[in-house]
Amino acid sequence: MRAVDIIARKRDGHDLTRDEINFIIRGYTNGEVADYQMSALLMAIYLRGMTTEETLALTEAMLHSGEIVDFSDLGRPRVDKHSTGGVGDKTSLVIAPVVAAAGVLVPMISGRALAHSGGTLDKLESIPGFRTDLSLAEFRATLEEVGAALIGQTVEIAPADKKLYALRDVTATVACRPLMAASIMSKKMAEGASGLVLDVKTGSGAFLKKEEDARELARIMISIARGLNKECIVMITDMNQPLGRAVGNSIELIEAFETLKGRGPDDFNTLCRELSAEMLVMGNAVPDADRGRELYDEVIASGAAVKKMRAIIRAQGGESRVVDDYGLLPRAAHHRELLTPEAGYVQAIDTEAIGHASMLLGAGRSRLDTAIDLGVGLTVHARIGDKLQRDSPLATIHFNDAARAEEAANDIRNAYTIGAERVEPPELIKAVVR
Ligand code: URA
Repeated sequence: MRAVDIIARKRDGHDLTRDEINFIIRGYTNGEVADYQMSALLMAIYLRGMTTEETLALTEAMLHSGEIVDFSDLGRPRVDKHSTGGVGDKTSLVIAPVVAAAGVLVPMISGRALAHSGGTLDKLESIPGFRTDLSLAEFRATLEEVGAALIGQTVEIAPADKKLYALRDVTATVACRPLMAASIMSKKMAEGASGLVLDVKTGSGAFLKKEEDARELARIMISIARGLNKECIVMITDMNQPLGRAVGNSIELIEAFETLKGRGPDDFNTLCRELSAEMLVMGNAVPDADRGRELYDEVIASGAAVKKMRAIIRAQGGESRVVDDYGLLPRAAHHRELLTPEAGYVQAIDTEAIGHASMLLGAGRSRLDTAIDLGVGLTVHARIGDKLQRDSPLATIHFNDAARAEEAANDIRNAYTIGAERVEPPELIKAVVR
């Protein structure tokens, strides 16, 4: 078999066989298939799609590229959550400590920034010393010791996704249902969780803009989980505007810390509460979601959740004083408030453009080797349905490079549609698929 023939077959619209998929994933993981060949194949898959059988074969090939962790000997339910990605989506940073504080184990393999969306790993790496590259033995030890561990794909667990995820980020091949399903499910099925809550985003800042596409992805991922005997539910949630107020890396971390202290923005806190409640039910900590919501409120009000966050940071080598002293985190040198040029109601926000503006400021990557600026980003003030006077604040940008800030400022202003008619804010949770 040759990689070039497999690329040509997909380019010409044929279905790939399981053997071809195994060959290409094995070859790419061990370095025999080059980045440029994999890039071409990813683009062919993006344009031609994959059948359900191909998607399943791809997921299994990626899952078996590394070890499949078994934590069943820990004798307690282990539940994780994963989001398909959005702008300002920092729920993992709240959910992991909350659910662990409530007694359910959370083994979590997350990703980095992907296209215009932010990544949990980059946000966590704003913390001085924090390690997201734990070995398998350290991952297990941290989970046992503190109840949660947050790592990235490694050479041991989901190595194929580690390479493919980074390559898709810089080759415009992220927003593709089969590639998303295989990426998410290969690492989530490898990490030793017994149950999984998925947050599938839809709207202007999501990879899948249309709700029917989000529902189709949900269906594929549930059927993969069922085939592998894992409990899985999906929430379809809104991404027509940034989640919370902060978009970036360290500034999102601060918003997560504030939420753990009971001072988070309503929309963000509500989504964290709903997702945590489902995880607590799945982890047998509560009989139903109502009691799960109460338990979420209790661990936040008692300080147990923020205490758990400090413990996770310490266990992963980080400086836990950041939770109380935000001055220890990377911060941008300059800030600028953007004002609305006209009065009216916010009718829509092009949220992908907001994510791109944050990347332009330096919060995301444009090449595999780009270093990201952890301190930059933006704080969103105006949201859909808000009534604005002329010169009301739309957003504050946090930047280090003035030329990039100018371009990002224009993009952010253009991302807002402001008009005379009031529109209702979009519903945050659109559906729960069980
Ligand atoms: N999250 C992932 O892990 N992979 C994707 O492809 C998209 C979101």
